[in-house]
Amino acid sequence: MPHVKMGTAGSAQASTLLWSGSAQKSSLAVDGCRSEPHAALDFLSRWQYNARSFFAERKVILMKKRSIRAIFPGSFDPITNGHLDVINRGIKLFDELIIAVGRSPVKNQLFKPQERVEMIAELITDMPGVSVESFDGLTVEYASERRADVILRGLRSLTDVQYEFQLAMTNRAVAGVETVFIMTSEQYGFTSSTLIREVASLGGDLSNLIPENVHMRLRDRFMRKQH
Ligand code: ADP
Repeated sequence: MPHVKMGTAGSAQASTLLWSGSAQKSSLAVDGCRSEPHAALDFLSRWQYNARSFFAERKVILMKKRSIRAIFPGSFDPITNGHLDVINRGIKLFDELIIAVGRSPVKNQLFKPQERVEMIAELITDMPGVSVESFDGLTVEYASERRADVILRGLRSLTDVQYEFQLAMTNRAVAGVETVFIMTSEQYGFTSSTLIREVASLGGDLSNLIPENVHMRLRDRFMRKQH
Protein backbone atom coordinates (compact mmCIF):
# COMPACT_ATOMS: atom_id res chain seq x y z
CA MET A 1 0.00 0.00 0.00
CA PRO A 2 1.69 3.25 -1.11
CA HIS A 3 2.22 5.64 1.74
CA VAL A 4 1.61 9.12 0.33
CA LYS A 5 0.88 11.69 3.03
CA MET A 6 1.07 14.79 0.85
CA GLY A 7 -1.47 13.76 -1.77
CA THR A 8 -4.16 14.10 0.82
CA ALA A 9 -2.78 17.16 2.60
CA GLY A 10 -5.11 20.15 2.94
CA SER A 11 -3.74 23.61 2.25
CA ALA A 12 -3.13 24.36 5.92
CA GLN A 13 -1.24 21.14 6.34
CA ALA A 14 0.80 21.74 3.19
CA SER A 15 1.72 25.25 4.37
CA THR A 16 2.89 23.75 7.62
CA LEU A 17 4.91 21.20 5.71
CA LEU A 18 6.58 24.00 3.81
CA TRP A 19 7.99 25.37 7.04
CA SER A 20 8.45 22.16 8.94
CA GLY A 21 12.08 21.70 7.96
CA SER A 22 13.92 20.33 4.94
CA ALA A 23 14.52 16.90 6.48
CA GLN A 24 10.80 16.25 6.76
CA LYS A 25 10.09 17.62 3.29
CA SER A 26 12.72 15.49 1.57
CA SER A 27 11.71 12.34 3.38
CA LEU A 28 8.11 12.89 2.24
CA ALA A 29 9.15 13.53 -1.35
CA VAL A 30 11.39 10.46 -1.44
CA ASP A 31 8.64 8.46 0.15
CA GLY A 32 6.19 9.60 -2.53
CA CYS A 33 8.57 9.08 -5.46
CA ARG A 34 9.43 5.62 -4.38
CA SER A 35 5.91 4.39 -4.01
CA GLU A 36 3.84 6.50 -6.44
CA PRO A 37 5.41 8.97 -8.93
CA HIS A 38 2.05 10.57 -9.75
CA ALA A 39 1.36 11.24 -6.14
CA ALA A 40 4.78 12.86 -5.80
CA LEU A 41 4.06 15.14 -8.77
CA ASP A 42 0.69 15.94 -7.32
CA PHE A 43 2.36 16.82 -4.03
CA LEU A 44 4.91 19.04 -5.80
CA SER A 45 2.27 21.00 -7.68
CA ARG A 46 0.25 21.49 -4.47
CA TRP A 47 3.39 22.47 -2.64
CA GLN A 48 4.21 25.02 -5.33
CA TYR A 49 0.66 26.38 -5.26
CA ASN A 50 0.69 26.74 -1.49
CA ALA A 51 4.11 28.37 -1.48
CA ARG A 52 2.92 30.90 -4.06
CA SER A 53 -0.22 31.81 -2.14
CA PHE A 54 1.76 31.92 1.11
CA PHE A 55 4.17 34.53 -0.30
CA ALA A 56 1.41 36.44 -2.09
CA GLU A 57 -0.41 36.86 1.23
CA ARG A 58 2.71 38.12 2.94
CA LYS A 59 3.50 40.52 0.12
CA VAL A 60 0.12 42.17 0.67
CA ILE A 61 0.91 42.52 4.37
CA LEU A 62 4.33 43.99 3.61
CA MET A 63 2.83 46.46 1.15
CA LYS A 64 0.30 47.62 3.74
CA LYS A 65 2.95 48.23 6.39
CA ARG A 66 4.61 51.26 4.79
CA SER A 67 6.68 53.73 6.70
CA ILE A 68 5.22 56.91 8.20
CA ARG A 69 6.84 60.23 7.41
CA ALA A 70 6.15 63.25 9.61
CA ILE A 71 7.22 66.86 9.28
CA PHE A 72 7.83 69.10 12.29
CA PRO A 73 7.41 72.64 10.98
CA GLY A 74 8.27 75.80 12.87
CA SER A 75 10.43 78.90 13.08
CA PHE A 76 13.09 77.36 15.37
CA ASP A 77 14.62 80.81 15.90
CA PRO A 78 16.52 79.30 17.67
CA ILE A 79 15.86 75.62 18.44
CA THR A 80 15.39 75.00 22.19
CA ASN A 81 15.47 71.96 24.47
CA GLY A 82 11.66 72.05 24.29
CA HIS A 83 11.77 71.49 20.51
CA LEU A 84 14.36 68.75 21.00
CA ASP A 85 12.12 67.04 23.52
CA VAL A 86 9.31 66.90 20.95
CA ILE A 87 11.73 65.60 18.29
CA ASN A 88 13.03 62.83 20.59
CA ARG A 89 9.50 61.70 21.38
CA GLY A 90 8.32 62.09 17.78
CA ILE A 91 10.91 59.80 16.29
CA LYS A 92 9.58 56.99 18.48
CA LEU A 93 6.22 57.32 16.73
CA PHE A 94 7.31 57.80 13.12
CA ASP A 95 9.77 56.14 10.80
CA GLU A 96 10.98 59.44 9.39
CA LEU A 97 10.86 62.93 10.82
CA ILE A 98 11.74 66.03 8.82
CA ILE A 99 12.33 69.19 10.85
CA ALA A 100 11.09 71.92 8.55
CA VAL A 101 12.41 75.42 9.18
CA GLY A 102 10.05 78.07 7.78
CA ARG A 103 11.86 80.57 5.57
CA SER A 104 8.99 83.07 5.53
CA PRO A 105 10.21 86.42 6.83
CA VAL A 106 9.01 87.00 10.39
CA LYS A 107 9.37 90.00 12.65
CA ASN A 108 12.24 90.02 15.16
CA GLN A 109 14.01 87.23 13.32
CA LEU A 110 17.39 86.69 14.97
CA PHE A 111 18.98 83.92 12.88
CA LYS A 112 18.78 83.45 9.12
CA PRO A 113 16.98 80.26 8.04
CA GLN A 114 20.31 78.76 6.93
CA GLU A 115 21.82 79.40 10.39
CA ARG A 116 18.83 77.77 12.07
CA VAL A 117 19.14 74.74 9.80
CA GLU A 118 22.87 74.50 10.60
CA MET A 119 22.27 74.55 14.36
CA ILE A 120 19.62 71.83 14.08
CA ALA A 121 21.80 69.72 11.76
CA GLU A 122 24.57 69.75 14.39
CA LEU A 123 22.11 68.38 16.96
CA ILE A 124 20.60 65.51 14.98
CA THR A 125 23.72 63.78 13.67
CA ASP A 126 23.08 60.82 16.03
CA MET A 127 19.36 60.58 15.38
CA PRO A 128 18.56 58.04 12.65
CA GLY A 129 15.47 58.93 10.65
CA VAL A 130 15.62 62.64 11.53
CA SER A 131 16.59 65.29 8.96
CA VAL A 132 16.30 69.05 8.63
CA GLU A 133 15.50 71.36 5.74
CA SER A 134 13.96 74.77 5.17
CA PHE A 135 10.79 75.57 3.26
CA ASP A 136 8.85 78.50 1.85
CA GLY A 137 5.14 79.16 1.82
CA LEU A 138 2.28 77.13 3.21
CA THR A 139 3.05 74.23 5.51
CA VAL A 140 0.35 72.06 3.90
CA GLU A 141 1.83 72.60 0.43
CA TYR A 142 5.24 71.67 1.71
CA ALA A 143 3.76 68.61 3.46
CA SER A 144 2.21 67.38 0.25
CA GLU A 145 5.40 68.10 -1.75
CA ARG A 146 7.38 65.97 0.72
CA ARG A 147 4.62 63.33 0.78
CA ALA A 148 4.31 63.63 4.55
CA ASP A 149 1.61 61.59 6.29
CA VAL A 150 1.48 63.72 9.39
CA ILE A 151 2.33 67.18 10.71
CA LEU A 152 3.90 67.08 14.16
CA ARG A 153 3.48 69.99 16.59
CA GLY A 154 4.41 70.48 20.20
CA LEU A 155 2.15 71.60 23.02
CA ARG A 156 3.30 73.48 26.09
CA SER A 157 0.17 74.88 27.69
CA LEU A 158 -3.52 75.53 27.24
CA THR A 159 -2.66 78.75 25.42
CA ASP A 160 -0.88 76.68 22.77
CA VAL A 161 -3.88 74.35 22.47
CA GLN A 162 -6.28 76.99 21.18
CA TYR A 163 -3.96 78.28 18.47
CA GLU A 164 -2.71 74.82 17.50
CA PHE A 165 -6.25 73.42 17.25
CA GLN A 166 -7.22 76.19 14.87
CA LEU A 167 -4.15 75.58 12.77
CA ALA A 168 -4.64 71.80 12.73
CA MET A 169 -8.30 72.07 11.78
CA THR A 170 -7.51 74.51 8.99
CA ASN A 171 -4.78 72.25 7.64
CA ARG A 172 -7.12 69.27 7.72
CA ALA A 173 -9.92 71.23 6.05
CA VAL A 174 -7.78 72.63 3.23
CA ALA A 175 -5.45 69.71 2.61
CA GLY A 176 -6.79 66.69 4.52
CA VAL A 177 -3.54 66.37 6.43
CA GLU A 178 -3.61 65.19 10.04
CA THR A 179 -1.68 66.83 12.88
CA VAL A 180 -0.25 64.90 15.79
CA PHE A 181 0.53 66.75 19.03
CA ILE A 182 3.16 65.87 21.54
CA MET A 183 3.17 67.39 25.00
CA THR A 184 6.48 68.68 26.19
CA SER A 185 8.16 67.67 29.46
CA GLU A 186 7.17 69.90 32.37
CA GLN A 187 10.58 71.54 32.60
CA TYR A 188 10.19 73.00 29.09
CA GLY A 189 6.58 74.11 29.51
CA PHE A 190 7.61 77.76 29.61
CA THR A 191 10.42 77.67 27.08
CA SER A 192 9.87 79.55 23.86
CA SER A 193 12.29 80.84 21.24
CA THR A 194 11.01 84.38 21.88
CA LEU A 195 11.85 84.13 25.57
CA ILE A 196 15.26 82.66 24.77
CA ARG A 197 16.07 85.56 22.42
CA GLU A 198 15.02 88.09 25.07
CA VAL A 199 16.95 86.50 27.93
CA ALA A 200 20.01 86.00 25.72
CA SER A 201 19.96 89.66 24.68
CA LEU A 202 20.21 90.56 28.40
CA GLY A 203 23.02 88.09 29.03
CA GLY A 204 20.96 85.65 31.17
CA ASP A 205 21.96 82.05 31.87
CA LEU A 206 20.13 79.71 29.49
CA SER A 207 22.22 76.58 29.87
CA ASN A 208 19.26 74.40 30.99
CA LEU A 209 16.96 75.52 28.23
CA ILE A 210 19.01 75.40 25.04
CA PRO A 211 21.71 73.14 23.65
CA GLU A 212 25.35 74.23 23.91
CA ASN A 213 25.83 74.96 20.19
CA VAL A 214 22.84 77.33 20.28
CA HIS A 215 24.19 78.97 23.43
CA MET A 216 27.49 79.68 21.68
CA ARG A 217 25.79 81.17 18.63
CA LEU A 218 23.61 83.37 20.82
CA ARG A 219 26.59 84.63 22.82
CA ASP A 220 28.41 85.33 19.60
CA ARG A 221 25.41 87.14 18.09
CA PHE A 222 24.80 89.42 21.09
CA MET A 223 28.46 90.13 21.65
CA ARG A 224 28.74 91.30 18.05
CA LYS A 225 25.64 93.44 18.47
CA GLN A 226 27.15 95.18 21.51
CA HIS A 227 30.40 96.10 19.69
P1 ADP B 1 6.01 78.51 15.16
O1 ADP B 1 6.35 79.94 14.82
O2 ADP B 1 5.53 77.70 14.02
O3 ADP B 1 5.16 78.36 16.38
P2 ADP B 1 8.12 77.56 16.86
O4 ADP B 1 9.55 77.27 16.52
O5 ADP B 1 7.87 78.60 17.89
O6 ADP B 1 7.44 77.88 15.49
O7 ADP B 1 7.42 76.24 17.32
C1 ADP B 1 7.37 75.09 16.53
C2 ADP B 1 6.56 74.02 17.24
O8 ADP B 1 7.25 73.65 18.42
C3 ADP B 1 5.18 74.47 17.69
O9 ADP B 1 4.30 73.39 17.59
C4 ADP B 1 5.37 74.85 19.13
O10 ADP B 1 4.18 74.71 19.86
C5 ADP B 1 6.39 73.81 19.53
N1 ADP B 1 7.20 74.25 20.65
C6 ADP B 1 7.88 75.39 20.81
N2 ADP B 1 8.50 75.43 22.00
C7 ADP B 1 8.18 74.27 22.62
C8 ADP B 1 8.48 73.71 23.89
N3 ADP B 1 9.19 74.35 24.80
N4 ADP B 1 7.98 72.49 24.17
C9 ADP B 1 7.21 71.85 23.27
N5 ADP B 1 6.89 72.32 22.07
C10 ADP B 1 7.36 73.51 21.75
